[in-house]
Amino acid sequence: MIIVLFGPPGCGKGTQAKRLQANTGLVQLSTGDMLRAAIASGSELGNRVKGIMAEGNLVDDETVIAMLSARIDAPDCEKGFILDGFPRTVAQAEALDALLTGKGIEIGAVVEMTVEDEALIERISGRYTCGNCGEGYHDAFKRPVAEGVCDQCGGKKFDRRADDNAESVRIRLDAYRNQSAPLLPYYRERDKIFAVNGMAEMDVVEKEIKAAIKAAK
Ligand code: ADP
Ligand code: ZN
Repeated sequence: MIIVLFGPPGCGKGTQAKRLQANTGLVQLSTGDMLRAAIASGSELGNRVKGIMAEGNLVDDETVIAMLSARIDAPDCEKGFILDGFPRTVAQAEALDALLTGKGIEIGAVVEMTVEDEALIERISGRYTCGNCGEGYHDAFKRPVAEGVCDQCGGKKFDRRADDNAESVRIRLDAYRNQSAPLLPYYRERDKIFAVNGMAEMDVVEKEIKAAIKAAK
């Protein structure tokens, strides 16, 4: 089964993809995480995309498609996967269709997560993660019980993404509207879209996504 989680930055794709991975056995493929890992490793690819990502712009299609294409050939993808942050342009969607056709498989569902712009900005601007275990926090909505200490692992180092600042968020939302939103009609024509309300509580969103996946089977 192949699931695409689709929606604007900050809509909760990453959170929900991790939950689905934990209880469906499908592997989460986040192109954002892959690119951030490349940056952290100091690879040629990482150095090339670092500035583009920090500004909030999209990395070029060729680079992202090549990266994703190599990743889905790995054995852990055989049972299926959850795409989080890919495709983000019509060119990427077309490339994905071609890759999957080559493997004799197709997308089961594209889950569209809708969230109002104001909420997106509020969610993104306050968020940070534990540098040790990756647990997510937020200045306004979810602070650690003991200030400066991770609830999960006791870690004391926290990270904020380079692109989670006001100017980059504005550019990311523009990129979503101009380059990614055209995917909605693309997948609607192919009868793949299931919309869920991303403004609801995380548990409710998770249930809705699972219902959509069931309906798609
Ligand atoms: P968010 O959805 O919150 O913006 P991601 O982690 O999915 O976060 O993506 C962060 C950044 O990584 C994007 O702004 C972009 O620069 C780059 N990126 C991730 N996926 C893609 C993609 N499919 N195509 C182009 N750039 C991408
Ligand atoms: Zn932690």
